[in-house]
Amino acid sequence: MITLNQNYTYEKLLELMDELVDTYPEWMQMRELGISHDMRSIRLLIVGKGKPSIICTAGVHGRESINPILLLHMAQYYGECAKERKSINQMNTAQLLEQYRILMIPIANPDGYVIATEGFGQIRNPVYRQNAKIRQINHTYWKANARGVDINRNFPCSFYHRSMSSEYPGSENETQVLMRLFQEYDSEIYLDFHSRGRIIYYYRNAMSEEYNAQAYNFAAYMQQLSKYKLGEPEDELSSVFGGGNTVQYYAESIGKPAITIETLDDFVDFPNDCRYQSDTWQELMEIPLGVIAMLE
Ligand SMILES: [Zn+2]
Repeated sequence: MITLNQNYTYEKLLELMDELVDTYPEWMQMRELGISHDMRSIRLLIVGKGKPSIICTAGVHGRESINPILLLHMAQYYGECAKERKSINQMNTAQLLEQYRILMIPIANPDGYVIATEGFGQIRNPVYRQNAKIRQINHTYWKANARGVDINRNFPCSFYHRSMSSEYPGSENETQVLMRLFQEYDSEIYLDFHSRGRIIYYYRNAMSEEYNAQAYNFAAYMQQLSKYKLGEPEDELSSVFGGGNTVQYYAESIGKPAITIETLDDFVDFPNDCRYQSDTWQELMEIPLGVIAMLE
């Protein structure tokens, strides 16, 4: 049982995922999608029974530790409401999850999560561990994978820039896992949860006006629910939000809306204090189900 306002280790989150599948076997399935560079499992939690899918990822940046917990809490809440035939804000949970499914990757970068929450001592590979320590940044600020590569700059797409000599587009295990997932499952929309500034980025400069109009519709709906700001078209290409990220790759390769949802205020420290979980939960809880209702 996942309760909020509590810290969770990566190992504990895996246990909770197993528990969810045991508790709601009718509504949930789990699959291992691959293994991180430091040999941790990257898992897919499938919530719902339909074929058409939406994809939700969290934890691409290790230090943004709140969203993995909130996505698992969401799976639990949706599973419970579907099982008990309870609606969520007049949305028929069971009916929507009969027709659609949510493909959740709650911890897309497990090594990053472990480093940010537990320290460099948890890195299993001695070479990666040594290289991480040499960088002289505090482990609580770690965004990257165990090799030090930011997954959200590693995707092969228009605005990719090489950030380290040891990486190339799609070089990382964690990147490849998501690339395969996007290709393997037909999906209608992709939501990537991050934690920097209570803002929703939907605009893709590489994409058509028609694409951006469609993405805007979804983003405007999410804005209503969350009360977050909407990002401006020029934000995407400013240096802070450099290219080669998950949503650019999805938009360019799949052609469907790909939206970044940034939870939490800018000033919130890393890993995210667990006291922010319940407020942020209120902002996010209806979003994936509401998006499915929009697709209907
Ligand atoms: Zn992030």
